[in-house]
Amino acid sequence: MTAAHRVVVVGHGMVAARFVDLLLTYADRTGTAVCATVLGDEPHEPYNRLMLSEVIAGRASLGGLALPRHDERVTVLTGVTGTVLHRARRRLTTDQGHEIPYDTVVLATGAEPAFPGPALTPGGGVRSLRTLDDCRDLLAVVSRRAHVTVVGGGAAGPGARVRPAHAKGRGGAGAPGPHRPRAPARHERRPHRRAGRA
Ligand SMILES: Cc1cc2nc3c(=O)[nH]c(=O)nc-3n(C[C@H](O)[C@H](O)[C@H](O)COP(=O)(O)OP(=O)(O)OC[C@H]3O[C@@H](n4cnc5c(N)ncnc54)[C@H](O)[C@@H]3O)c2cc1C
Repeated sequence: MTAAHRVVVVGHGMVAARFVDLLLTYADRTGTAVCATVLGDEPHEPYNRLMLSEVIAGRASLGGLALPRHDERVTVLTGVTGTVLHRARRRLTTDQGHEIPYDTVVLATGAEPAFPGPALTPGGGVRSLRTLDDCRDLLAVVSRRAHVTVVGGGAAGPGARVRPAHAKGRGGAGAPGPHRPRAPARHERRPHRRAGRA
């Protein structure tokens, strides 16, 4: 019997979750033995990041964003960051000092929010909306103060119009600040099926 092919996936966002789904489907179809370790630095199991702006808008709840779990071939490590790849030895070091051996490593680490200048860096009332925890913090903020200015015309920005239900105090009206997208919408809610495949 041949040993299972060991796949390590760094980052446990939507791309990682979809990749692991497809990997297992491929393994089942071809009779390939695989095992995967997926590590994500967020303290949560993977969730539908696209829906965070819907949560802010009051059209979805944080509890409903979890993505389906994988089967027993997959080990999920939450709150663990991949720090160093030892390519010659095919090992990944984590921030907890462990080394994870792999045959194939996949980097699915996503992107960081862009802050457009020194006046707009995190802190002092400036926040980004990338993670579930950002979303939770933002909900707490908008429930206290109604005035929110949204900077950025990408997928997360226009969708995140704060509903009155979340925006109590200071007059109580939901009040996202003026928003001027730089370009026409890049994608309508989700990428087109063919674009998604690409
Ligand atoms: C609020 C919001 C709304 C959006 N709406 C839309 C939409 O309507 N349509 C659309 O097409 N796109 C939308 N997007 C963009 C979409 O969510 C991203 O394109 C998608 O999540 C990218 O998936 P990913 O797996 O590459 O990265 P991510 O989802 O960012 O996942 C990467 C994960 O890896 C983790 N990570 C990074 N480095 C490490 C490391 N060294 N070790 C361990 N973990 C690590 C990150 O913390 C993160 O959890 C939206 C994004 C946001 C934030």
